[in-house]
Parts: sequence; C-alpha cells; structure tokens
Amino acid sequence: MELLKQRILKDGTEIGTEVVKVDSFLNHQLDIGLFMALGKEIHRRFGHLGINKILTIEASGIGIAAITAIYFDLVPVVFAKKAQPNTMTEEFYGAPVKSFTKGTVSIARVSKNYLNANDKVLIIDDFLAHGEAAAGLANLVEQAGGTVCGIAAIIEKEFQGGSKKLRDAGYLVDSLAVITKVEDGKIYFKD
Ligand code: 5GP
Repeated sequence: MELLKQRILKDGTEIGTEVVKVDSFLNHQLDIGLFMALGKEIHRRFGHLGINKILTIEASGIGIAAITAIYFDLVPVVFAKKAQPNTMTEEFYGAPVKSFTKGTVSIARVSKNYLNANDKVLIIDDFLAHGEAAAGLANLVEQAGGTVCGIAAIIEKEFQGGSKKLRDAGYLVDSLAVITKVEDGKIYFKD
C-alpha cells in the first residue's frame, strides 16, 4: 500500500537491522486518518470472507483493529491479554507467545466468553516479524473451535520469516507494507 510505504519512509526510523520504529503514527501516537485508510484497505483484501470477529493482542493492535471493525460492519473486536488481571475470573483460552521486543514468553489469554465455534476470525496486528503473536492468536481461535479466515499485518518484516511460517501452516496472510530488509539506515520494500 503506497500511502503506508511513503509514511514509513517519511516518519519511520530503524533500530539496527531488525526493528522499525513508527511511534509517530502507529505505536505511540496514532494517526486516525491513516488508520481509516488502512482499515478500508484491510476490508478490501479480506471483506469477502464472511468475517464476524476481529482478534488482536494488546496493546498496539487494539487501535487499528478497532478502526478496521468499522469497515467490517462493526464486528466485535477482541484483544488477547498478556497477563491475567484479577478481573479475569472466568475460564480462558491461553497460548504461549514469545515477545519480539522483550524476548520473554507470556501467555496470551482470551476469555471463553469471547471466542467460540461460530467465529470466523480476522487476526490483525501492527507488525509481523517471526509470527509468534499471530500463531498464538490463531491457536486461541482454534482452541475455541473457530475458524481463522486470515491474518492481516500492517507492517511485515518478511526477512524475519513469520509470514512464510504462517502460510506454510495454511493461513491466508496479507500485509499492507512488506519490508524486505533494513540496511545501512535504509528501509527496503517489496515491489
Ligand atoms: P512476532 O510475534 O511476529 O515475532 O512480532 C510481532 C509483535 O512484535 C507485534 O505485536 C509487535 O508489537 C512487535 N514487533 C515486532 N517487530 C517490531 C518492530 O520492528 N517494531 C515494533 N514497534 N514492534 C515490533
């Protein structure tokens, strides 16, 4: 998606060769006008699949998942929690997820009240790197007997292998901007 690529080139910075920082519009300050364009584009790519729920993981996926739901007829948005708050007294589905940024493993949790066998789910996340978060979310949907209709990432770093791993496992994966490498202070895109 050209608009997003241009925005990453304009406002994104790289940290070494592995991490891209886009705090000014996606990960700290949120550009809602841009999110609306991204949500519309996600709907263009996944809107024909009969999706009735969007699933993401706290915290950075929540904003874009919420705006995207507007374009999917206001389907419910569920976000997995990374820690068990003492308000989560009901039973939950849990899946281990290794954090890309922290290197620690946490359990992604969703209450059994909010995922079920009738769900046709679109998984959305801000970044797709090694695919750990998306695979964990897919695991939660499948524990509930639901269907993963697709996985949408805003920014994919293809060189970290997550999309290949997820496609090899049979999932439909599509990302709005695909980074092929980060080298000498420059970000390179597919296409
Ligand atoms: P994965 O689980 O695919 O390895 O990594 C995806 C998760 O790690 C996303 O939820 C995102 O929050 C975080 N992440 C991965 N790579 C980056 C990056 O380059 N920049 C930022 N800001 N977050 C990232």
